Amino acid sequence: MEYKSGATILIVDDDKLNRIFLTKLLEKEGYHVVQAHDGYEGFKAAYDLKPDLMLLDVIMPKTDGFNVCKALKREPNTKDIPVIFVTSRADKSDIVSGFQAGAVDFVTKPVFMPELLARVRAHLSIKFYADQLRQKNEELEELNHLLKHLSKKDALMEIWNRGAFDIELEKLHNLSIRYERVYSLIFADIDYFKPYNDYYGHQAGDEVLKEVGRIFRSACRATDFIARYGGEEIVVILPETNADQSVKLGNRIMEMLCEKNILHEKSPLSNRVTLTMGISELDLNNIVSYQEIVKMADIALYEGKNNGRNTIVIYNNKIVFKKQGAG
Ligand SMILES: [Mg+2]
Repeated sequence: MEYKSGATILIVDDDKLNRIFLTKLLEKEGYHVVQAHDGYEGFKAAYDLKPDLMLLDVIMPKTDGFNVCKALKREPNTKDIPVIFVTSRADKSDIVSGFQAGAVDFVTKPVFMPELLARVRAHLSIKFYADQLRQKNEELEELNHLLKHLSKKDALMEIWNRGAFDIELEKLHNLSIRYERVYSLIFADIDYFKPYNDYYGHQAGDEVLKEVGRIFRSACRATDFIARYGGEEIVVILPETNADQSVKLGNRIMEMLCEKNILHEKSPLSNRVTLTMGISELDLNNIVSYQEIVKMADIALYEGKNNGRNTIVIYNNKIVFKKQGAG
């Protein structure tokens, strides 16, 4: 398959008769032809129109064809346009200079039309396949990117998943230690979620998870990293934030959930869906592993569960402080 009809060919030549002669012949073959009478105009037309192929004269006033070709090959927008030199100057050194400038072919003047048409056709076909290949590659790259992204996301809550969390936490943990910056971790869990699912059904349970995901997304800052850790557990990594500052964010999330007023008749707490949160931070005077930071937040969370739930607890050197959450 070749693409012949509809292809746009740009002719750059200072010789008017030559332009007219080539234009007539190419138009007869079904090509769309555009003309330019010097190198500058030719470059501008190539840049603006992005033709499928160019026939470029070598000897022209102001700037010659070699310079035009080199300029086109330097420009991302025009570098893929195949250039065929059409010239009376065709000794071996000229041909070498032409290929060095980036041309795909040479045709000598006076032009033998069947030869020119054969070369035009051949290079248009090559360009057609190259364009298709490039487009397919771009589509594949896009798809790959999307797949990678999807494989790190939790589709239901529209936050990151556990795998992405592990990678992000390790990265931030190492950076924080190196630059001596604090960070903290919120470990949150929906209170009495199993009784909710048992009573209202899993579809309703999914709706709660979606809502909680939305609340976390709107409450957290762009630099925070929110992930679903497990069933109804959400973790947030907060760079450059200590535990006390994280409590403020935790309180805001709890207030927002409280305002949503999601009925939970099987919750012995308040008949509404609530959260319990455990918070840990990186202590630069007592550095532990990132797994330890997760464990500390988890211990604080369970301390909160054992102390009435709907609350925020900070883990601090094994001493657990209780903060009353909203709700
Ligand atoms: Mg000329």
